[in-house]
Amino acid sequence: MSEVMVEVRGVHKSFGPLEVLRGVDLQVRTGEVTVVLGPSGSGKSTLLRTINHLEKVNRGWISIDGELIGYRRSGNRLYELKERDVLRQRTHIGFVFQDFNLFPHLTVAENLIEAPVAALRRPRKEALASAARLLERVGLADKAGAYPRQLSGGQQQRVAIARALALEPKVLLFDEPTSALDPELVGEVLDVIKDLARTGTTMIVVTHEIGFAREVADRVVFMDGGVVVEQGPPAAVLDAPRHERTRAFLSKVL
Ligand code: ADP
Ligand code: MG
Repeated sequence: MSEVMVEVRGVHKSFGPLEVLRGVDLQVRTGEVTVVLGPSGSGKSTLLRTINHLEKVNRGWISIDGELIGYRRSGNRLYELKERDVLRQRTHIGFVFQDFNLFPHLTVAENLIEAPVAALRRPRKEALASAARLLERVGLADKAGAYPRQLSGGQQQRVAIARALALEPKVLLFDEPTSALDPELVGEVLDVIKDLARTGTTMIVVTHEIGFAREVADRVVFMDGGVVVEQGPPAAVLDAPRHERTRAFLSKVL
C-alpha cells in the first residue's frame, strides 16, 4: 500500500456557471483520519463525490492508493476510464451518506451482502458470514433479519457503515454521518467511527462535530468557497486557526 492513500491535486468542478471546487489540494495518508469542516455550500460533498467518482472533475486529478481514479492525464488532456474500470475502482472506496441510503426492501444482512455478491462475485454463504462479523462489530449482531424501517436512525447508520466495510475498502468517506440523527443517537455512530479509527482505517469525515474532530482526527481541513483555506493537526486548526474565515466559522459552531 502507498503511504499516501488519497491525493487530490488542483481539482476544479463546475456545475454550469457555478464553480464549486476551485483548485482543491488534499493528501490523506494511509491509516489516518481527516476531518473536513466548512460552511454549507463550501463544496465538501462535491469533493467527496469527486473522490468516489460520482462527479467528474473539470481540471486536476485524484489518485487512490497510487492509482489515478477515473481520469488519465496526457499532457493537458483528460481521458476518462471505461465505465467498467470506474466501477472496479469505486469498489475500493466506501461511502456513508447523511441519510443512510439503505435498500428499504432488503433486510440488514441482504443490504450487507448485495455489493460483495453482485460486484465482487463473492459466494453468498461467505458474504453472509462476513456480514455477521461486521454486524457484531457495529453492535447489531441481532438485527441481521430486520428491515431498515424497523431500526432507529443510529442503528440504520451503523448498518450503512457495516455495508461500506463489506467491500473491504481502502478508504471510507463519510458525508455528515450524524447530521440526520436525533442528538441522543449521535454518540453511538461516532463511537463506531472512533473504533474504526483505532484500527487504522483510512477515513475522510465531513462533519460539524468539533469534539469528534479534536479527539479522532489526525488532520483537520477547513474548506470555504471551494478551496482548502487551512489544514493541519486538530490543535492547530481548531485552537489556533491562522485564517479569519476559519475563526469566523469556528466561532459559530463551537
Ligand atoms: P457542502 O457539502 O459544503 O454544503 P456542496 O458540495 O453540497 O457543499 O455544494 C456546493 C455548491 O454546489 C452549492 O452551491 C450547491 O448548490 C452546488 N451543487 C452541488 N451539487 C450540484 C449539482 N449536481 N448541480 C448544481 N449545483 C450543485
Ligand atoms: Mg454537504
